[in-house]
Amino acid sequence: MKYITKYKSPNYNSRKNSKIRLIIIHYTALENSLDAISYLCKKEKKVSSHYLISQNGIIYNLVKDNFRAWHAGKAFWQEITDINSISIGIELDYNPNGENNKFSLKMINSLKKLILKLQNKYKINKNSILAHSDIAPFRKKDPGKYFPWKSLSSSKLILSMKKLKRIEIEIIEKWFNNYSLNSKKKKIIMALSLIGYDTREVYKNVKLYSKLISAYRIRYLKSEDIIKNKSIYNTLIKHLFNFMLTKD
Ligand SMILES: [Zn+2]
Repeated sequence: MKYITKYKSPNYNSRKNSKIRLIIIHYTALENSLDAISYLCKKEKKVSSHYLISQNGIIYNLVKDNFRAWHAGKAFWQEITDINSISIGIELDYNPNGENNKFSLKMINSLKKLILKLQNKYKINKNSILAHSDIAPFRKKDPGKYFPWKSLSSSKLILSMKKLKRIEIEIIEKWFNNYSLNSKKKKIIMALSLIGYDTREVYKNVKLYSKLISAYRIRYLKSEDIIKNKSIYNTLIKHLFNFMLTKD
């Protein structure tokens, strides 16, 4: 796979021996890939990503994998807050309000090839390909509700969730009851927390809770279920069970 390496971002530092465990997907919200390159490579901006993929599917490598690029900001996943140290950041040349407001086939094909390569190289788990909105649900929406997660799961890059048998649902429910999780809200928070989300403040803060639910909903619910305002509960239980059974 070929990358364009002639643009380099100065915005990085050392990973201090942290292992690469996550891939974080972003969108730039800028006009085009040239604007994105100039933004991500400007010292004063203090942001960067390892890769940028253009609408034409060209992959720019702006920071070497072994360095810590600055893309995640204030974030949290599975008890870890320094996400930049353990992740690779991929920016997509996409702006929901711009002319580049489509995830082009060429872009997504390049993204898939890049993810596959990184997964094999760093032994990254299928549960560890994340949206910026997964690790920073209270302030970030990217890569947004039109990002084709389905295409990534069809290509087996991320977990595709198997439907649960009744006995499996019962196991989870029993387990919740053993922990005296007697309301749906408590169960939802516990499940999100086990998967990796930041639930530290959400039980008491309704605003944060609804932001977290909304981030989850956008990524995991079908669009018709979002329109119907369906609860995330069943999807989340299925997700939790599949998550616990996935090791690779
Ligand atoms: Zn982002």
